[in-house]
Amino acid sequence: MLKGLMMNRPLSVSSIIDFAAETHGDAMVTSSTVEGGLHRMSYRAARGRIAQLAHALRGLGVQPGDRVATLAWNGYRHFELYYATAGIGAVCHTINPRLFEDQLLYIVAHAQDRVIFFDATFAPLLAKLRDRLPRDLKFVAMTDRAHMPDADLPELLCYEELLDGQPDTIDWPELPEDAACSLCYTSGTTGEPKGALYSHRSTVLHALTVAVTMQDSMRSDRKVLPVVPLFHVNAWGLPYTSPLTGTGLVFPGPKLDGASLFELMEAEKVFSSWGVPTVWLGLLAEMRARGRAPEGLSEVVIGGSAASRPMIEAFEKEFGVGVCHAWGMTEMSPIGTCGLLSPTQQQLPVDAQIDIKCSQGKRVFGVDFKLVDDAGSRLPHDGQAAGELYVRGNTIISGYFENDGATQKAIDGDGWFGTGDIASVDPGGFLRVSDRSKDLIKSGGEWISSIDLESIASGHPGVANCAVIAKPDEKWGERPLLIVVASEGHTPSKEELLAHVGAHVAKWQAPDDVLFVEALPLTATGKVSKMTLRRKYVAA
Ligand code: ADP
Repeated sequence: MLKGLMMNRPLSVSSIIDFAAETHGDAMVTSSTVEGGLHRMSYRAARGRIAQLAHALRGLGVQPGDRVATLAWNGYRHFELYYATAGIGAVCHTINPRLFEDQLLYIVAHAQDRVIFFDATFAPLLAKLRDRLPRDLKFVAMTDRAHMPDADLPELLCYEELLDGQPDTIDWPELPEDAACSLCYTSGTTGEPKGALYSHRSTVLHALTVAVTMQDSMRSDRKVLPVVPLFHVNAWGLPYTSPLTGTGLVFPGPKLDGASLFELMEAEKVFSSWGVPTVWLGLLAEMRARGRAPEGLSEVVIGGSAASRPMIEAFEKEFGVGVCHAWGMTEMSPIGTCGLLSPTQQQLPVDAQIDIKCSQGKRVFGVDFKLVDDAGSRLPHDGQAAGELYVRGNTIISGYFENDGATQKAIDGDGWFGTGDIASVDPGGFLRVSDRSKDLIKSGGEWISSIDLESIASGHPGVANCAVIAKPDEKWGERPLLIVVASEGHTPSKEELLAHVGAHVAKWQAPDDVLFVEALPLTATGKVSKMTLRRKYVAA
């Protein structure tokens, strides 16, 4: 082997904000704030405030490697924390406020957080938990003096006061590129939450991957609105890819209802917005009420759970908004695939294009796929064979943070990470996820995909939202049960819904029963919680 003679500079998160401040200095970060109203700052101004915050963190005693927690909405101060913590070698531990209290306490203790920064919204929650939180945890309210929450928290500090008077320049320390920069726990739908600890290297590589993959929306003449929270998997990398490419960021703050999102998107001329299917239900209802899409909105990126065909059709056919269906995991930073069509595919009839968009998209550069059957043998990528999907790449965890047991279960002998998703992959790299292994329905020895049944059922006008779970059955082992939230003003009958689904699938795959409910339980990341549904409706 002849070694290349190229420099080997460590990749660093701080280089992204430095680059943005210099080359995309005028691009804006616009935030709908917790205090009310909009806040605007350029990437140049952000760099100054990030330097001030970095000095302040050091003043609080934060050392390289220390975990700094956040409990906050999508807003500019949260964005500043991402960079200031990473820049000084500390770790930004984003906490999902929708976790159960015990899980939240568990991860603060497990991560050994030193400081917690929080939006005023979450002051009552922290005050309630204060006696169960670590004694030496420091509390910082992410606001100015005039808006400090009246909370019973020890030595409560004020974010803007911490920044006041600090120098707005900083020489970042040079860190090894494998130093940790951020930490996010999975939502713990399967046992205790597990920590994915991202490095500077993985974060920069992920930002570059998203930039090249989403090159039409990640551009300096565009704005992107992450509905996907900064508290869950780095808002799918947007806080890094946006400054890297000069794309303007629009943060929605705490208001995630359809009307608020519509108005903010329209006022700021947002080009692209990213989020899980649940939030799009609200936006679509608003778009239907107004009979149009927000002006300027050209693309929604849907991921986190499967985008159903009716949802994709509504955006594309009713409103002319393009859908990019993506798949990923907390453990993958998170992006694994992206559903952009090739120029040839764009020439296909609309319905054939939508067929492709219903798949989870093509793998992104740097993420390798392996499909295996129950016996662990590799399956072909022929678009037919379905098995458990394993992934490998530089933006995928090599293990969980301080959790050897979970690591051993997740990583196979060859170093691949088992996703727990059942999928097929076609020769063009397109992934089709049919289920999570634990959500699959096995009837008479055959697998039934709950995702397919849900997509079909949501095509009925009387269905606002739905989920399919396995119901134990003496004869068949399991049978699919359809659980439905009816659309406003509709009272679909059981027979009507069963006939609708039955018309699209083989007889043995169709559900035998429908249950009508007021609302579906959601997980902390806004996905339908099938575990809760199973416990509630089919606990044997
Ligand atoms: P959590 O369960 O903690 O919310 P993640 O957000 O990391 O964890 O969820 C990852 C899982 O979400 C994937 O393994 C997959 O089952 C599911 N998922 C993500 N995106 C999609 C998608 N586009 N289609 C189907 N399932 C998806």
